[in-house]
Amino acid sequence: MMYPPPIENLIDEFRRFPGIGPKSAERFVFHLLRGGARRIDALNAAMTALRDRIDRCVECGMVSEQERCRICANPRRDRTLLCVVAEPTDLLAVDRSGAFQGIYHVLDGLLAPIEGIGPEELRITELVARIRKSTELESSFRIQEVVLAFDPTIEGETTVNYLAEMLSQDDILVTRLARGLPVGGDLEYTDPVTLAGAMSGRRALVRRSAQPVESPFQSIPL
Ligand SMILES: [Zn+2]
Repeated sequence: MMYPPPIENLIDEFRRFPGIGPKSAERFVFHLLRGGARRIDALNAAMTALRDRIDRCVECGMVSEQERCRICANPRRDRTLLCVVAEPTDLLAVDRSGAFQGIYHVLDGLLAPIEGIGPEELRITELVARIRKSTELESSFRIQEVVLAFDPTIEGETTVNYLAEMLSQDDILVTRLARGLPVGGDLEYTDPVTLAGAMSGRRALVRRSAQPVESPFQSIPL
């Protein structure tokens, strides 16, 4: 026997969520039903706000209610330092660590050739355009260092290697987080202290410029 279609349909919707199986999906629906119209209305309102009020920041791709996210709109941020992350959740994790005062770029994923996720699926063209465009700006707005901050996974490594190669043609310093993050782990769930350590101990990958690049962080071996 099946539940009536409104219940079955909502179970199907919840089952699309990552990590949610049929039993959990069913529990969610009955939890809502037990809460009555008020709970359902509250969920409806929250989802409508998500649909209508959340967009992507035009600069970095972070989720934002404004055209520019709070970080991009903050004049105190160091615009010579750009940290590249896979997801908005990673951006938040890095930023909460307090060890990075620059600006960000959200890639919308990591390279995963086996799953068919290639460079075209990610916001790499936007990243390169952003870096190139910044070279025309005055020095305090010119991106001098790109920090690659990805999960310590195969996909993360693949993306580090790809971007390091791609950005090697540009006259910028490319760095990555220090090793020491749990392999196979998730940046998003890494504690702020570990993440801050990985950020301040970041290492240079590529530096094409013949001139030494002034880094505000002494710990980077140049
Ligand atoms: Zn932004």
